[in-house]
Amino acid sequence: MFLKMNYLRDMLLNNKSKKKLIIELLFLISIIISSAFELIFSEFGYQRLLNFTENILFALILIIPLSFLNSKKPCFFYFNIVFVFFNIILFFETSYYYIFNVDISPSAIYVLLETNKFETKEFLSFYLDGYIIVYGLFLLLLVIISVLADNKKLLYVKKSALGTKPLVLSLIIVLFVLKATPLRHQNLPYLLLKSFYVVYYESGVINASAYKSEKGIFNHTETANNNKKKLYVVIIGESTTSNNMSLYGYNRKTNPLLSKQEGLSVFKDVISPHAGTTASITKAFSLQDYEQSSTSQGSIIQLLNAANHETYWVSNQEPVGFAETDITKVIKACKNKIYFSTKSSEDTRLYDDVIFDKLDEVINKKENNKILFIHLQGTHIYYKNRYPERFNVFKNNVNNKIISKAHDFEIINEYDNAVLYNDYIVNTIIQKIKHTNNESFVLYFSDHGEEVYHTIKFVGHNDDVGTLPMFQIPFMLWQSETFKKNNSIEIDLDRPYMTDDLFHSIAHLCDVSNKHVNLKKSIFSKSFKKRKRIILNNKDYDSLYVIENKKKN
Ligand SMILES: [Zn+2]
Repeated sequence: MFLKMNYLRDMLLNNKSKKKLIIELLFLISIIISSAFELIFSEFGYQRLLNFTENILFALILIIPLSFLNSKKPCFFYFNIVFVFFNIILFFETSYYYIFNVDISPSAIYVLLETNKFETKEFLSFYLDGYIIVYGLFLLLLVIISVLADNKKLLYVKKSALGTKPLVLSLIIVLFVLKATPLRHQNLPYLLLKSFYVVYYESGVINASAYKSEKGIFNHTETANNNKKKLYVVIIGESTTSNNMSLYGYNRKTNPLLSKQEGLSVFKDVISPHAGTTASITKAFSLQDYEQSSTSQGSIIQLLNAANHETYWVSNQEPVGFAETDITKVIKACKNKIYFSTKSSEDTRLYDDVIFDKLDEVINKKENNKILFIHLQGTHIYYKNRYPERFNVFKNNVNNKIISKAHDFEIINEYDNAVLYNDYIVNTIIQKIKHTNNESFVLYFSDHGEEVYHTIKFVGHNDDVGTLPMFQIPFMLWQSETFKKNNSIEIDLDRPYMTDDLFHSIAHLCDVSNKHVNLKKSIFSKSFKKRKRIILNNKDYDSLYVIENKKKN
C-alpha cells in the first residue's frame, strides 16, 4: 500500500513540465474535497481513514492503465471517461455517508435498485440539501476544468519511467490489497457488482419457481369450517411505526377513528424482522423466517389457494422496480392482482383511498371464501404526499430533544398527518367489511416501522441504520361476530411476536391446516410459543429494547 503511495508521489513530483496540470493531481483534489466534506459533518475516525485509503487505491487502479496508452488522443479520451466515473462514484459514496452517517452497503444498494422512479424523485427531494449540492458542484467544476484543460492541451500525461512490467505488478498489488482487506467494502463499484451478483445469481432465498404454481407444496390442505361466506382482509401498511400512534400511547390523537372501533384487538409488542419492505414482506408471507426453520418454500397465497379461497392482491404500490421485486415473486400465485400505481402518471400521486372502489367491487362479487391482501402506501417518505389537505391537522411543534430546526419539526407533523390519514383508511376498510355481515376478520400490520427523530437525528428506515422504531409496528385484529362464533382465536395482547412468522398466524386465522402450518408460530393460538426475536443479523431485539429504555429513563 505504501509502495503505491510512493508511486503516486513520484508521479506527482517527477513532473518536468510544471506549467501543465498533472492528471493524478486532479484525482487527488477530488478525494481531498470529498474527505473534507465528510469531516466537516462528522468526526474523524478509523472508517474515514479506510475510506480515504480506498479512494486513493481506486484512483490508482483507474490511473495506471493510462501509462499503457501510447498516443495522446486515446489517453485523454480514457482519462476523461474515468475521471467523470470516479467523481460520480465519489459523489454517491460521500453523499450517502453524509445523509445516513454510515458507509454505503450492498443492502443499501439493493434497496436503491428496487426503488422505482417515483420513490427516487421523492428520495432526492427529501434528502438533497444545499451542502450536498455545493459539494456536487465542486466535483463538477473539477470535471469541467479537466475537460477544458484537455482541449487546450494543458493536461500532462507522464510516461512512466518504470516500464510495463512494474506497472502490471503495481496494478496487481493494488487489486490484491483491495481484495484482501476490508477496504473493498468502501468501494462503490465493488459493492454494486456484489449486489448484482447477490440479486441475480445467489437469490436462492427467493426461488421464484417455487412460488409460481397455484398450490405449490400445499397438498392435503384442509379447512374445518364449512361456511362459504367468508370474507377475509389482510392490510399491509407501509413505514408506520407504533411510536406515532395514539393507540400505542403517542400523545397526539393520531388514531381518533380506530380508537373508537369496537372489538379491535391491538397487540402491543409486535415487530418486523427487517427495516425494509421487501425483506419483511417476503418473510411474512412465506415459510421463510430468520431461523430458517423450514427448507420448504411456499407462500400463504398458495396455501389459501389450496384451501379453495379466492385470493386477491390489491396494491397501491408499484409491482416492479429496477428488477422484479421479491414481493411480486412471492405473491405470483395470487389469482387476482390489481395495481393502481402503474397506471398513474408521474405527477398524480394516488392516495390510499384509491383502493375503496375496488374493495366494494370485490365485496360484491358472488364468490365463496374471498381473501384480500391490501398493500398500502401508508406513511412512506415523502410523508406530505400521503394525505389530502383536509388531513393536514398537526401544525405545532412537538416535544423533541433531538431536533431544533423548524424544518425538522415540520417533518414530524407531516408524518403524524400521514398516520392520521392511515387511521382513516384502515378504519374505513373495517367499516366496509363490517357492513357485509359476513364471517370476517381484518388484520392490519405495517411492513416495518420508521425512525422519525425518536432515537437519533434520522428520518426513514434502513437495516444499516437499524434503530428500534424501524421495527416497532402496529398489529391489530378486528373480528366479526360470526367469525368469533365459528373460530377459536385466542387473544393475548402482550404476546411478543415478530412478523416473519405471520404465515402461520394467517393460516390459523383462516382455519387452514396443513403439515407446514405450525400453530406454535401463530400469535392467535393456544399453543403459541414465545421465541427469541433476532434482528439486524444477530441482535436480540428484547435485549436491545431493555438497553434503549434504560437510556431513556
Ligand atoms: Zn416498507
